[in-house]
Amino acid sequence: MNATYDGPRLALDFDALAHNWRTVCAAGMGQPVGAVVKNDAYGLGVAAVVPRLWALGCREFWVATLHEALAVRHSLRDAAAGAARILVLNGLAGTRPEDFAAQGLTPVLTGPHELAPLAGYAARTGARLPVAVHLDTGLTRLGFGAAQLPALQPQGALWRDAQVTHWVTHLGRFHDPEAPQCLLQRERFVEWTRQLPAALRSIATSSSVFAGPGWHFDHARVGSALWGVPASQRATPMLRPVASLHAPVLRVADVPAGTEVGYAGSYTTPGPRRIATVALGYGDGLPFSLVNRGYLVLAGRHVPIVGGVAMGMVAVDVSACAPGEVRPGMWAEVYGAQQSVQALAAAAGVAANVLLALSARLAPRSAAWQEEAPEVVA
Ligand SMILES: *Cc1c(COP(=O)(O)O)cnc(C)c1O
Repeated sequence: MNATYDGPRLALDFDALAHNWRTVCAAGMGQPVGAVVKNDAYGLGVAAVVPRLWALGCREFWVATLHEALAVRHSLRDAAAGAARILVLNGLAGTRPEDFAAQGLTPVLTGPHELAPLAGYAARTGARLPVAVHLDTGLTRLGFGAAQLPALQPQGALWRDAQVTHWVTHLGRFHDPEAPQCLLQRERFVEWTRQLPAALRSIATSSSVFAGPGWHFDHARVGSALWGVPASQRATPMLRPVASLHAPVLRVADVPAGTEVGYAGSYTTPGPRRIATVALGYGDGLPFSLVNRGYLVLAGRHVPIVGGVAMGMVAVDVSACAPGEVRPGMWAEVYGAQQSVQALAAAAGVAANVLLALSARLAPRSAAWQEEAPEVVA
């Protein structure tokens, strides 16, 4: 790229990623930890994040789709790519088991309807595909329920046609593992897997991995915590934010009382104000709900968002800053060291991962920027 990059800049702190990885592994007390990197690593970018996790010792990656799995393989160099175990949470999802076998991928089966394609594959090739299996203990989303457990017994077709590596279940109240509903789900998980042949039992995620040995079983699969986004209502160890997002100031204007700011007068200045226009909008993933809500950070100060969120712009009131302190060409922090992604997400009325996920479209563009200018400009 020859021109200077002027779009929103997503930057990643890999020291923070290393810190969070070690914190999660320490909490897991030796059980294997897989990194959940679905939705382009929650928006941070698989290409940037997966090789770093590999270098930290992560050998297992969980994604939602076959295509995401291929992106994970592609992000790793030859030897690492071959050795990484990649599990696909959406299961076969209508694709052919051959596609998984060819790439050494493991589908996480979503229900009994996936047994027939596995049988077809075994008949065609004589091979048993490695699979993990979702158990639906209460989320009512994916997996085999209580009535379908007989299909998983050793004498059933599953074991004739496939090799089970993990039993997987997911909590409905993942942010609160001590909730009675979660305890019931765990009870079912224990009870059901007791009746089934041995495979790694995986229930712990970003929240429950910190909730003590009662949640560890044989395995943890962790996403949010690796990016420094707390997934728990309860106290968790210090995690450090990995992602930060900045956007440039385009203009600063002093306006009199009674001035409409943005479309349809969604804000009218109650007195003389200084308004900065920042180049970030819903097209970049800024939630539309931030009309007259929430803050950006400029010149070390939290400055309130005023007016609406346009496709590529938003206004902030910088009257509290000294005249000339905020200038066009400065970079406003959207989230990062001074404002957590959780804080802005709370103002928008969404979960932190929603805001993070929206940066998915920024990651590839930001990668181009980072090649051009590795320094993070605040
Ligand atoms: C997204 C997801 C995870 C990761 O959850 P975090 O709270 O981000 O760690 C784990 N398991 C399943 C089934 C998921 O869909």
